[in-house]
Formats: sequence, C-alpha cells, structure tokens
Amino acid sequence: MSLANAEVLSSVLLLPESIAIEAVYPSKTQLTVQIVCVRQSAACPLCQQSSERIHSRYGRTVADVPCGGRRVILALTVRKFVCHTPTCPRKLFTERLPDLVQSYARMTNRLSEHLQILGLATCGQLGERLAPKLGMKVSGPTLLRRMKTVSLPPVARVRVLGIDDWAWKKGQTYGTILVDLERRRTIDLLPDRATETVVAWLRAHPEVEIVSRDRGSEYAAAAKKGAPQAQQIADRFHLLLNLREKLKELMARKQKHLPEIEAAASDAIPDKVRGGLPVLAPAQPEEGTRSFRRMSPRLRATASCSCAGEAKEAPSQVSRSNRYARYQAVQILHEQALSEREIARRLKLSRKTVHRFLVAESFPERSRPPYRGSILDPYKPYILERWKAGCWNGTQLLHEVKRRGYTGSESLFRLFIVNLRKQHQEAATSTVLALDVSEAHVTVAADLPPKPSPKRRMSPSRASWLCVSQPCKLDEKQRQQVEEIRAAHPDLESAYRLCQAFVSMLKERRDEDLDQWLAQAKGSGIAELKSFAQGIGRDYDAVRAAFSSEWSQGQVEAQVNCLKLQKRIMFGRANFDFLRLRVLCRV
Ligand SMILES: [Zn+2]
Repeated sequence: MSLANAEVLSSVLLLPESIAIEAVYPSKTQLTVQIVCVRQSAACPLCQQSSERIHSRYGRTVADVPCGGRRVILALTVRKFVCHTPTCPRKLFTERLPDLVQSYARMTNRLSEHLQILGLATCGQLGERLAPKLGMKVSGPTLLRRMKTVSLPPVARVRVLGIDDWAWKKGQTYGTILVDLERRRTIDLLPDRATETVVAWLRAHPEVEIVSRDRGSEYAAAAKKGAPQAQQIADRFHLLLNLREKLKELMARKQKHLPEIEAAASDAIPDKVRGGLPVLAPAQPEEGTRSFRRMSPRLRATASCSCAGEAKEAPSQVSRSNRYARYQAVQILHEQALSEREIARRLKLSRKTVHRFLVAESFPERSRPPYRGSILDPYKPYILERWKAGCWNGTQLLHEVKRRGYTGSESLFRLFIVNLRKQHQEAATSTVLALDVSEAHVTVAADLPPKPSPKRRMSPSRASWLCVSQPCKLDEKQRQQVEEIRAAHPDLESAYRLCQAFVSMLKERRDEDLDQWLAQAKGSGIAELKSFAQGIGRDYDAVRAAFSSEWSQGQVEAQVNCLKLQKRIMFGRANFDFLRLRVLCRV
C-alpha cells in the first residue's frame, strides 16, 4: 500500500497519529486493517524510562467501529521493548496504546463507547439483534457488562424539585422519581417511596428551595422533615382531580336524583345494536379447553350459557345481575353491623367497592361504553334482504357483500350471520320476514329491579365531569344536562356552584379567595365537599402556594412516562440499579 493511500485511509478510519496502516483486506462484510505503531520508543510502565530496543513482536486482533456498514477488525502488530533500568524488576514490556485500546481489551475504546450507547438505547437481547445491522457484533451479556461500566453523572445542585412516585409493579411496589424542574431532567431515582428514604435524600440536598408534589401525605411529610427550608407546592391538576373524585362520590350517593338520559340519544348508545351484534364466536370452544380459556370473560359467559342450554341472558345482563347480587350481599352484611373492612374481606371485594355500595342511596348502575358502530352496519340491510329471499349460505353472502365493498374481517361477518341464523331458528318461519337484527334479546332475571330502558340514569362519573367542566367548553346538549343536574336536588345545585367557583378561582389564580371558599364548602352541609375542604386545610400552605406558583407536576409526569418506556424496553426484567442507570443516562 502506497504511503499516500495509507494516510488517506488512516484519516478515514480516524486512527491516532502514531498508528500506520500497512495493508487492508476487504471482504463483503468485513474490513481487516493491518496496523502498526510507528513511535520509535516506548516508556516502561513501571519505571517510566523510555526504551528504543525492540525485543520481539506479536499479533493482536481488536474489533473497531464499523466503516461503511462493514465490521472493522484491526490486526495490530505489537512490539515488546527491553527496559534498560538496572533496578527495574520489569525486563521486558509491551508498548501501550491507551488512545486506541486498553490492555487486554478485545475492542477499541470507541467501539466500547458505541456499545454502551447501543445498550442504553435498547437492552441486552434487542442490542444483540440490532448490532449486526449496524456493522457490529456483540452478545447480550457483553452489552450488559459494557453498560455496567458507565459511570453515573454526579447529582447536580437543584433549586426547584419535583417529586412523585412510579410503579415497579402497579398496586404493589413503588419507587420515587426526583426531577429538576428548571432543567427539566430526572436527577435521581429512589428504590421505594418510604418517608425515611426521601428524607435522607432531601437532607443531602439543602439547596432545594421549592418542592412540587402531588396531594399524597407521604411526600408532604417527607418534605417537611427533610427540607424544612423549602416551600411546598401542591399540584393544581391533582387538586382538580381530588375535587372531581369527591364530586363523583356525591353523585354516586345521589344517583337516583340524577337526570335520566335517553340511552339511544346519549353518548352511550348500547341497546340498539348490542343484541344485533352478538358476542358469539362462530364455533364455540368447549369449556375447559385452551381456546375457551383464551376467550374474553364476556364471550365465556355467553358460551357457557349456550352450552348449558340455559336461559339466554346477554353478557352485560349476567354481569349486572352478579353485581346486583354483590350489592345486596354488602347491604345484608352491613345490616349485621359488620365493618366495611370485614365485609370486603368476607366477600373478597375491594374496600372501595364496598364503600361505594354503602354510600349509594340506590343500586349504582354502571355506565356502559358507547357503541361506536361497525364496519358491517351499511351492509346489514342487504344481508337481511338476501336472507329473507332465501339465501342462507354464509359463504355466498360474504362473497356478495365483499363485491359490494365490504372490507371488514370474515369473523365479524360470521358473528352477525350466526346470530341471524339463531334468531331465525328461534322464530317461526312465517315471522322471518319481520325479523329485526337490531333487536336485543335480553331477559331480565326475576330478582332484579326493572331496569330503565331505553332510559337510564346518568353515571356519577359523567355527572361529575359535567360539573367541573367550564360551561364555555360544553356543547348545547351538555349544558342542558348540567341544568338538569342542578335542578334535580338542592345539594347538587350548591355542589355545582362551589365546584365552578373553585375551578375559576384556580384558573385565575385568586389565592385570596381560598379562605372564603373553604368556609363556604364546610358550611354547605355536603359531606364530600366538607371532606375535600378539610383535606385542603391539612395541606393549606402547599395548596395556597399552588394558586400563585408557576411550578406544577406536569414535567414530573412526563419524566415518569419516559421511565415507563425505559422499564418496558427492558421487558421489566432489569433490577433497580440498571433502571436507574438507564433513566439517568438516557440517550
Ligand atoms: Zn522499567
């Protein structure tokens, strides 16, 4: 290789100046570069004395960063020198190339850095699969070992701190995330959310001036203890969330007063096609088989009913009757003067459910998800027409609707046909002409109170949402519903007024009106709002600061989202140290 060529190549490969290229052996996937160190002398690693006397040479192979998508292998000729210092115990030493590769390493420094970055952006297995596509080759465990050598950045000084919890396993184990709100960066993760852990961290950071947090009492106590100098700020969004939760409790208690809304005209329109779109699979798996277990609970309920030949209740009705039975059981145990905790334990229900059942003045109906329509809907009249004309062959009908532009799945079509066929078999042949596929076949069990249909009570969730929403953001129909809620009961009217006052007070940051509002809420005679006001009273300074402060938990929530992503990239299998490393050194 000519000298000029070697210099050009050396600059392309960005090799250190002391390295010269002797030859290059390219193949389709790999570039083997023969290199040698051209320095005249080398220093002994023990006595630091320079020596020019070469004793011997040997070959060493190290992997380098890819070039043009090909793997690069450096075939390095290393020299051994003789140490001249008489007192030095080392007689022979090998020259060192710390700019290029560490002693005994099988890869160059820069490849090692690249793999660290690859590891931080992916995970062991994913990195192993991705590396060959980038011209590198690495195993998952090596990638993880590379990552372990990454040193964490020192925790910078923080003035405005955001603190929140994040779930290792939802409902079971939680950790704590600490965010620098000014720099918009996660600065540390803690393995739990215990007060002592947070206090210890805060004590190590006396520079914190502001702590933004949610409404939970743990972090409030920890901040008070660990950073007494800092101003605490409750989050505005969580304040509204708490208000809405309390409002929802009130609405659940007063559900019988809530306006009736037409099931067909409201946003939740289930009845019309619910029966026409059955949740029956074309071929019902046998109970106990694997495919049966894989079915959704709804499908299973239907399948069991039809297999056993029992009365055909719609799955929603089965679920409702089960729920009603639980409601009654809770009431009966309550009459026996059992505590909520004991009832929950005996019936294996959550305490929240038991509480909701007990405070409700009547059986709390569940709001149903809206029917969003089906891609098959436009073709149903045609199918029905053909059915009436005597074409009962599903395959042929499918061909026909496909010709007419149906692009949905075959299983959706089969579901419809199965139900149609069933209704046909049940009905006498003469009534087939009057068959209505959109009619629901729901039988109400005798022990249930008659269910208002097609009208139903508005759900507490929806009613509370309407009451905290600003009227200017509601449409005409929603404003009408708000008026109906307000007119239904004096308590609902005063709750609405108080909620709206709170929302606008928070929006316009009028902290001077907070005291008056709290007094009004406590004197309103509504238990839920009184409890909300008492909660604010316990956290008064932080809530009051929320009205005037520019800081909120928004940035912290965003960082928690990033953390969740990191957790999932690792398939939830890494330990806390690895997660912390990945979050703090995020690529
Ligand atoms: Zn020496």
